[in-house]
Amino acid sequence: MIEVRVCPRCPRVLPLESLRCPACGGPLTSETRTGVGRALAATELSVPAAGWPAPHRLVVVELEGGGRVLALSPDELPEPGRRGRVERSRDGRFHFLG
Ligand SMILES: [Zn+2]
Repeated sequence: MIEVRVCPRCPRVLPLESLRCPACGGPLTSETRTGVGRALAATELSVPAAGWPAPHRLVVVELEGGGRVLALSPDELPEPGRRGRVERSRDGRFHFLG
């Protein structure tokens, strides 16, 4: 299970620990998702920010139940539509396990 933030007005789902919705400024509530989702898009950074491993693979994942998260992919880039599971590590980063 992973926690997401939801704006009850928009509705808008955010994976971050934001206190306010960036769209309407309203307060957010917490919900959980199973972590199961599918890859929408993916890219690989050959020159990531300092301190990050290269290549650095990023995946936009649509979660079942609603919401999108940006996750790291430890393996090759997933094809769009590929189902997998998102886990959150202790450092707060999301990881897509396809
Ligand atoms: Zn909102």
